[in-house]
Amino acid sequence: MPELPPELNPPARILLGPGPSNVHPRVYQAMMAPVLGHLDPDFLRIMDETKELLRTVFRTQNEETIAVSGTGSAGMEAAVANLIEPGERAVVCINGYFGERIAEIASRYGAEVMRVEAEWGHIIEPEAVEAALKAAGRTKLVAIVHAETSTGVSQPLADIVRLAHQHDAFLLVDAVTSLAGCQVAVDDWGIDACYSASQKCLSCPPGLAPLTLSPQAGEAVRSRETKVRSWYLDVTLLDNYWGGKRAYHHTAPITMVYALREGLRLAVEEGLEARIARHRRHGEALWAGLEAMGLALHAPEGHRLPVLTTVRIPEGIDDLKLRRALLYEHSIEIGGGLGPLAGKVWRIGLMGHSSSAENVLAVLAALEHELAGQGYRLEKGAGVAAADRVLES
Ligand SMILES: *Cc1c(COP(=O)(O)O)cnc(C)c1O
Repeated sequence: MPELPPELNPPARILLGPGPSNVHPRVYQAMMAPVLGHLDPDFLRIMDETKELLRTVFRTQNEETIAVSGTGSAGMEAAVANLIEPGERAVVCINGYFGERIAEIASRYGAEVMRVEAEWGHIIEPEAVEAALKAAGRTKLVAIVHAETSTGVSQPLADIVRLAHQHDAFLLVDAVTSLAGCQVAVDDWGIDACYSASQKCLSCPPGLAPLTLSPQAGEAVRSRETKVRSWYLDVTLLDNYWGGKRAYHHTAPITMVYALREGLRLAVEEGLEARIARHRRHGEALWAGLEAMGLALHAPEGHRLPVLTTVRIPEGIDDLKLRRALLYEHSIEIGGGLGPLAGKVWRIGLMGHSSSAENVLAVLAALEHELAGQGYRLEKGAGVAAADRVLES
């Protein structure tokens, strides 16, 4: 018999990558509660409370608001699979890794995908979406990422919503990294379909994907001509469980629902506006600190995500060696670049429970130490001091 591996003992890292972020202690506590049956009236009440909290955080009245079992990509796939029928057209905005993933999923579900592209690090210009919609003809769906975690860019949505609706298309928004860390207002903004993930600004482990559909989008799903190709992600079936009939579909990940409920409770308790302000303040402190160290931010001013900062790796610095040192010497995780930004940027997340003044100062001090160790010239203490000034202002 092979030797029994030792008892589980993972280190307590400071998670400042593109997700997962650190789990709030109260979320861990909630996860220790006894597992109930998935049809136990007590659990059904917990689901109802979770739905109501999700509506508050999405800022929506949408009846169709649930948590899909799976990570953010399951939310993405559910939104696309339910709204697209084979042969229908989808205009997909692509200025990073996750826009590309939406296009890939849409094409797998039989959509005629029309791509609207921008460089990684730029926003999608409304004019480009307008041109695509004019060229495309009848379009079912316009899809866009609100907070592109691969580039650190925050996408303005107002013009895109207006254009989609002018062309009788639904607007699908990926709010995986923005929900509960940046402004997201599903109803006020007129978003038709929006999904997120538990492990970014909601301070939970990965495993659930909040999803909301407007009444019009819900109606479009119910009046489809073809069945949704994914059985697991068919929201009309999921609704029978999350909604009125309480019919068994699949066993809900009970413990993750407890976690999400507590993560949402924490967000509402803090106050959404205060929470967004906290993320902004810490993001701005980090930017000031990085710039004071002579580093260049990748996303343009005015379109930077406070929850996810991309910073260019200086000439002559070994990317992997530095990230390894942060992880092993400082117990801090940050992310590397993806796709065309691989080896060019680091991605520093300040999401949910991870968005704290201590973490901003810790990552700046650790970066300074490791950059100096690799021969990068900087003014000692300048980064932390600049961040401190922002934190105190
Ligand atoms: C993380 C992320 C996803 C995918 O979520 P997973 O939980 O990794 O499946 C999708 N979109 C964006 C913008 C993300 O940041």
